[in-house]
Amino acid sequence: MPPKYIVVLGLLMSGLGKGAVTSSIMKMLDFYDLKVLPVKFDGYLNYDCGTMNPYRHGEVFVLDDKSEVDMDFGLYERFLNKNLTGDLSITGGKLFSKLINKERKGGFLGEDVQIIPHLTNEIIDSIESISKKKNPDVLVIEVGGTVGDIENSYFIEAMRQFATNHDVTFVCLTYIPELAVVGEQKTKPSQIGFRQLQQAGITPSIVVCRSKGPIEEKTKQKIALFSNIHKDRVIDDSDDYTIYNLPIRFISQKFDTLLLRDLGIEGRRINSQKLNEWKSITSKIISPKKEVRIGIVGKYMLLKDSYASLREALIHSGAFNNVRVNLEWIESEELESSGHEARLNGLNGIIVPGGFGKRGTEGMINAIRYARENSLPFLGLCLGMQLMAVEYARNACGLKGANSSEMDPRAKHKVIDIIEWQRGIRTKGGTMRLGAQKCILAKGTNSRSAYSKRIIEERHRHRYEFNNRYRRTMEQNGLVIAGTHPKDNLVEFIEWKTGFGIGTQAHPELKSRLERPAPIFSRLIAEAVRSSAGK
Ligand code: GLN
Repeated sequence: MPPKYIVVLGLLMSGLGKGAVTSSIMKMLDFYDLKVLPVKFDGYLNYDCGTMNPYRHGEVFVLDDKSEVDMDFGLYERFLNKNLTGDLSITGGKLFSKLINKERKGGFLGEDVQIIPHLTNEIIDSIESISKKKNPDVLVIEVGGTVGDIENSYFIEAMRQFATNHDVTFVCLTYIPELAVVGEQKTKPSQIGFRQLQQAGITPSIVVCRSKGPIEEKTKQKIALFSNIHKDRVIDDSDDYTIYNLPIRFISQKFDTLLLRDLGIEGRRINSQKLNEWKSITSKIISPKKEVRIGIVGKYMLLKDSYASLREALIHSGAFNNVRVNLEWIESEELESSGHEARLNGLNGIIVPGGFGKRGTEGMINAIRYARENSLPFLGLCLGMQLMAVEYARNACGLKGANSSEMDPRAKHKVIDIIEWQRGIRTKGGTMRLGAQKCILAKGTNSRSAYSKRIIEERHRHRYEFNNRYRRTMEQNGLVIAGTHPKDNLVEFIEWKTGFGIGTQAHPELKSRLERPAPIFSRLIAEAVRSSAGK
């Protein structure tokens, strides 16, 4: 059958969870064994997310194919349990650069190049070429930003045009505020939003309502009236304990049946085994048996979205171990003064995640030392692994002044140094060591037993690496080199000999899924449970 399309749009404001709705729609269709893929439109003029600040924009997500994409791709992959590709991310930057290149080559000779039809055609062509190449049953297109923004207006216009000769269903997400004093759900902002949507020439077939409490009957009726749909097509997306429960809540409101009907594929049977597996894991998130406290020591703590994949990997590994993982976000700069031990006291495990630049790194090193000396389960991810090596060099190998050359280019012992082939690189976009990289895990190590595999593949995003000139000294002083790249001789995993401490140059959190948690995270949580029981 020719592919069907669902376009997800957001009204009023960002941050309503459009990515979670898009992912849940895909998961519902996946329960019906349909081949579903996402496409994300982002209006910004950056080519990709690689040069953005995670503190402002949230985490930069990396795919196997080296693409640096919007963090929504993390959500899509975690729900779909599928590895996606960078061509599914269509940004304003990519579109304009393609269009202008074409114009320079004479692709539009004699014409004046315009948003409509040239840019909108470019968008439509991209969608058609994805459909042709990947052959999905359903393509779910999420339009970033909100209806009414200048940035995404050409995407919305392209979808209006596209819908005139393809099977397209529009789903729109809106927000229902509730005024505490009056205690009433207000639909006026949504009414204004629907008017904007109508001006763009689009009629939604389903409206999803974000709200604090459940959507009341009266509210549903009003929303239905103003958006020209039946009341049963107004779906409740009120606050819940976990977003992973959303597909199940949607199904209980027959969102799946409505979608299948709109797409003209009703009558399919749901794969109850898949559905039940999802339900059973989700129930472990909602009511687990035990609890542990894990400290995350990083520097972008105010915006938790900077570490979205890490947070989710801990939810996955918590569910896997049937424990609630209580996260404590600790700003590393706060650990730079004396007395920092008190802040770490009582934790059952510590993670130092990835990051860039010097700020806060001495606090991270203090946290790593604390974990090592107090036998606290520890995980170092990318920068966390590099600082684990620095800490070990300084405090266990007597290499005073050891550091990463990123933090101190004149350090006496550069135990972490720039990757050789990175030295000549001057441009910043897409030039780090990126994407899926192979690693061989050494026999008898915790890393190998966590993965139960000799050769693994995890995603990377870095410019610095373990300096092999210090490898022998560090090994002689007890550091375990647990994993190396099969060809490049790069150290990818290090471990402490005693206790549980693993550092990896990779970002295993990027490949963690609810149905397939990242192995070293599951292991960390199991170790944290064990250490909490011993206290
Ligand atoms: N800043 C370090 C590097 O470039 C670590 C990067 C990261 O943690 N992703 O190598």
